[in-house]
Amino acid sequence: MPKIVIIGGGPIGLITGEILARDGHSVTILDRDAAEPRLDADSDWAAWERAGVSQFRQPHLIQPKWREVVDREIPGLTGALIDNGGWRLNLLHGTASDAGVREQADEWFDAIVVRRPVFEGVLSRFVQEHEGLRVRRGVRVTGLIAAPSSPGVPRVCGVHTSHGAITADLVVDAGGRRSSVPQWVGAISPIAPREFREDGGVIYYSRHYKLSSPFISNGLTDLVTQHETLSVLVLPGDNGTVGVALVTSARDRRLRGIRENVTWESLARRIPAAAPWLDSEPLTDVMPMAGIDHVQRSYMVDGKPTVSGLVAVGDAMVATNPTLGLGVTLGTLQACVLRDVIAGETEPDLSAAAERYSDTCEKKLKNHINMALSYDNHRRVEVGEEIAGAKYRPNGSGWPTTVALTNGARLDPLLRRAYVSMSTLFQESTDVLSAQAVQDTLSRYMTGPRYSIGALGRAEILEAVS
Ligand SMILES: Cc1cc2nc3c(=O)[nH]c(=O)nc-3n(C[C@H](O)[C@H](O)[C@H](O)COP(=O)(O)OP(=O)(O)OC[C@H]3O[C@@H](n4cnc5c(N)ncnc54)[C@H](O)[C@@H]3O)c2cc1C
Repeated sequence: MPKIVIIGGGPIGLITGEILARDGHSVTILDRDAAEPRLDADSDWAAWERAGVSQFRQPHLIQPKWREVVDREIPGLTGALIDNGGWRLNLLHGTASDAGVREQADEWFDAIVVRRPVFEGVLSRFVQEHEGLRVRRGVRVTGLIAAPSSPGVPRVCGVHTSHGAITADLVVDAGGRRSSVPQWVGAISPIAPREFREDGGVIYYSRHYKLSSPFISNGLTDLVTQHETLSVLVLPGDNGTVGVALVTSARDRRLRGIRENVTWESLARRIPAAAPWLDSEPLTDVMPMAGIDHVQRSYMVDGKPTVSGLVAVGDAMVATNPTLGLGVTLGTLQACVLRDVIAGETEPDLSAAAERYSDTCEKKLKNHINMALSYDNHRRVEVGEEIAGAKYRPNGSGWPTTVALTNGARLDPLLRRAYVSMSTLFQESTDVLSAQAVQDTLSRYMTGPRYSIGALGRAEILEAVS
């Protein structure tokens, strides 16, 4: 039975391990954090320390696409999340119960809403029930073992750890955005891996609340809203909770005061999507988080592998703008690609499969990743201009179209469906935007104001924090 070692027991390490173990591989997952998940949602949230994951208590949205894939690949997991207080929120229709406007297939847009520590705790307990999979916490990987005399590129055949060496037919890097694996590959291979890395330039200021009334929303258009120099996430969680994140440019000195609860609240109260929840019981103070890098890595350079026997999944392979909420879903899709390309392989061939994995990920996920990166670049420049008191004037029609779609989605049912379909990866943006009816409707919003009704202007934001 092929033996696979996974570096990192975050969500994507665990999901990849589960999917590979179900396909007959013997999987060992190693995580440097020693703390085990607790017994239930409340204690995972309150007491599980995960120093290795700085966004552990930041609000997360787990996309419908993730639910669709996991219901097929890991039956029972979404049920376990719901048993622990998660619930289904339809991102197209929100909590509205008007059955008349729903199409039968609209259930597809159901996301499972759950706080990240609860998500990871349930996931961790779930996968440990699987026979072919072992999770070892408190084991830090410190380097790669390369086959001593393989011709051509070095072959990775295991890892060095704080608890000794472990051999493997395939090593999977699920060590997150800050993975050290590229340095280790650089130390054993004559060809350096390709790594693109830059500071995403945003800072999250988040708080969680325990709600005293049911969460109500119109779906994705309420969960993520844009304001002049500010993005706001209002993400419900399990067991009657909600996380609110005010996301600003890390360079925006005038908004740094929102790290204080009082100033944060003064601003959040002016945001229509956030205000209704702020009289609930706060579960946290403001939790700032900066240093959110964008990362893309490849162990294939100019069509040639830098090493064999090694692949990366999740944030260790690609990490984009977190406000789009795609990380966990993209990582899960990569796990499925990996399972498919190594299915039925014998041990020696497993190491060559890394090449096919890289090619297939490129083909299947490139458009989604490019969409996220393009959105991010435009929004970053736009916010920079707005801080300077200027107006962003991009070349081309790409960004104006995105803006028109985002604003139109709040008012027009056809654009709402188009916007949610694109944002949730239900359909690719080119397919959505090429529909004639969408183009015709969108044209009405192309010349409208930059921000939709209810959005805050810069002056209002500065007044709230002064
Ligand atoms: C502020 C913020 C908000 C986000 N919001 C969303 C969202 O709404 N929706 C969404 O889908 N995604 C979101 N993301 C992205 C999401 O958090 C990541 O995509 C996800 O955590 C990736 O999981 P992972 O398992 O690849 O990596 P990680 O979660 O980073 O886990 C990596 C694991 O590897 C371990 N590790 C690292 N190095 C070693 C080593 N040498 N030895 C042993 N173990 C090691 C770490 O301890 C850690 O447990 C957000 C990210 C941020 C920063």
